[in-house]
Amino acid sequence: MHVALIGAYGSAGTAVAGRLVEHLGEELTQLTLIDDGEPGGGLCILRGCMPSKEVISAAGHRYQTRHDDRLIGTPEMDLDRVVETKDGHIENFARHRRAAVHDMAEREGAEFRHERATFVDDHTLRLHPSGDELTADYVVVATGSVVNVPDLPGIDAVEPVTSADVLDATDLPESGIVMGFGYVGLELVPYLAEAGVDLTVVEHDARPLDEADPDFGDELLDIYREEFGVEILTNTYEKRVEPAGEGVRMHLDHDGEAVTREAEALFLFTGRRPDLAGLGIENTALDTDGEWVHDTMQARDLAHTFVVGDVNGKEPILHVAKEQGFVAADNILAHAAGEKLVEYENVHHHVVFSAGGVYPYARVGHSVASAVEAGLDHVAVTRRASDDGVFKTKATPRGLATLVVGTDGTVLGYQGLHYHADVMAKTMQMAVEMELDVHEIPDRAYHPTTPEILDGLFRQAKAELRES
Ligand SMILES: Cc1cc2nc3c(=O)[nH]c(=O)nc-3n(C[C@H](O)[C@H](O)[C@H](O)COP(=O)(O)OP(=O)(O)OC[C@H]3O[C@@H](n4cnc5c(N)ncnc54)[C@H](O)[C@@H]3O)c2cc1C
Repeated sequence: MHVALIGAYGSAGTAVAGRLVEHLGEELTQLTLIDDGEPGGGLCILRGCMPSKEVISAAGHRYQTRHDDRLIGTPEMDLDRVVETKDGHIENFARHRRAAVHDMAEREGAEFRHERATFVDDHTLRLHPSGDELTADYVVVATGSVVNVPDLPGIDAVEPVTSADVLDATDLPESGIVMGFGYVGLELVPYLAEAGVDLTVVEHDARPLDEADPDFGDELLDIYREEFGVEILTNTYEKRVEPAGEGVRMHLDHDGEAVTREAEALFLFTGRRPDLAGLGIENTALDTDGEWVHDTMQARDLAHTFVVGDVNGKEPILHVAKEQGFVAADNILAHAAGEKLVEYENVHHHVVFSAGGVYPYARVGHSVASAVEAGLDHVAVTRRASDDGVFKTKATPRGLATLVVGTDGTVLGYQGLHYHADVMAKTMQMAVEMELDVHEIPDRAYHPTTPEILDGLFRQAKAELRES
């Protein structure tokens, strides 16, 4: 059996390859790994998760300095050093990623082609620039995503700044209008604000963080407005944009009222869409409309094609891309053996490095709204970060956390918008995925200078269950 994989340097592609390579010499006889990335390393490493957290950390340090009365003066961010440090680190990560792929290609039966692949037909790929063609029993598409440019009148006449541009910028405009307040906007807005950019954010809904219970989005709005000085126009829609002097003017519908904003730059944080252009999909039986990829990662219209990562449009985040990759590899082997395919399902697990990473938002498992929607009998308890003495001593008193527990005590979900919520999400992932009973979670004394917010939630939930 020959498997060809398009997008081998990406997170999803590497996961597929890593799993399949162990079967070379057995049922798998040939594995062709293809990627035209230059230098290569995938989105997460080059322009996504890793570089964004790296630059955000500089903003987080500045924010904390500004909010600590014991320190005098406010440091400026040296963007040359921010970008240079980030570049050094990601070059290293990317080198490791490429080395891992090239090492796999050294195995008997495997090869790496540093070329662009397009479909000639369902099983045949043409490689560019060599023009070589190869025929495979199974093809894995792991080509990632591209920036989603919204269909807004006038957008072609201005030059929007994307997240990739921001990550490389050593010189930023004085002011900007932000379109897109999903996780990319939530992460980069505080970075830009700490770097001195005066921002207006356009938010379509009443609050950001669609996946969260409303209190979390409201708290984030307060933090961004009060602590970062950002103007956020909620319930607002873009009508059109046009060049204005050296910058841009945007016409908006703000709660039914026509308003305009002008700024030096338009920041486009409007998400990403599957990268399917130029793949020659039209030469195959694949139709990419609607739910074109099953949860087994098998394409709806082509049983020998598996589609993983951002390109399938399901849940464009890194850990999902990787897990989908493992499932696709297992399912290719299962399909070839005539066995039943397994579906990929996961427990909700998102972390947004909001507020410079000082007040990250994390959700594991159920929110209150999703527990209600799923018809689960539950109790929910909430604590404010300001009630935690330890957060106060660290000058990070904002935020809140909610724990959702089944009426039998099973931990169903945690949401946190507070200092260290990102790290605590791992602990809570275990509590939720292992279906721990909140009554059995040890109530022990711990180091007095670590946050107590989780212990507080557990205790409060147990008390609530006793009373209900
Ligand atoms: C600013 C930003 C911040 C982010 N932060 C986070 C975060 O904190 N946490 C998180 O979980 N996710 C984050 N993400 C999302 C995450 O980066 C992506 O979900 C993940 O990298 C997708 O991996 P992938 O393997 O699907 O695609 P990619 O990593 O993009 O891999 C696709 C590969 O396919 C190759 N390719 C494409 N077309 C062809 C072709 N025709 N022939 C050959 N090769 C081809 C490309 O060169 C590339 O190497 C962030 C994204 C952005 C933009």
